[in-house]
Amino acid sequence: MSIDPCPTLIAAARQFYQMGWMIGTAGNLSARISDNNFWITGSGCPKNQLTADDFVLMTLNSDKGEFNSTPTQSDSQKRPSAETSIHAAIYSLFPDTQVCYHVHSIENNLVTRFTKSDALPLPPLEMIKGLGIWEENPQVTMPIFTNHSEVSRIASEIYTRFKDTKPQVPALLIRDHGVTVWADSLERASNYLEVVEYIFRYMIASQKVGMEIS
Ligand SMILES: [Zn+2]
Repeated sequence: MSIDPCPTLIAAARQFYQMGWMIGTAGNLSARISDNNFWITGSGCPKNQLTADDFVLMTLNSDKGEFNSTPTQSDSQKRPSAETSIHAAIYSLFPDTQVCYHVHSIENNLVTRFTKSDALPLPPLEMIKGLGIWEENPQVTMPIFTNHSEVSRIASEIYTRFKDTKPQVPALLIRDHGVTVWADSLERASNYLEVVEYIFRYMIASQKVGMEIS
């Protein structure tokens, strides 16, 4: 990404905050600027009032199957998001990925309770096309991961599972925690997030009226 992504990330965070998806300091947004560098929101920053100083530039150490990352400047005032390892795993797995968004909404927490398995079946809505699925009546699932208190363990499980099996959609859920989407552009990442949150709202609304959606 040749342009500075931070102004767009600031605007996206404000929008997601207003949607109720980044309440308090929750959630984290990142954008890659070269093969091995990405900007990510700092730890503990209110997402409705980010400034350019609230981002930390990370270096991805993706050689030999690793996916960890370290701050590019060790004297940085800001600490990177506690969930940076999840972003690092996604950037390491998918070289075309430029942007990774992770948010906590009530809906994306609730839907992980709809199944005990490690994948959530999604209803075959028209909106699924927004995630790049163009089949008629598609049978699509979204991976669910366990919410370990040690985030690096979540990241490690994402890396291990996706290395063997690519997900059908560019999104994953962590149970009772939140959703993560990734894309090759800032605009597409926002679109994906809006689409998955729409699908989650639909699933909750349909369950309220006892409708069969599969
Ligand atoms: Zn989170």
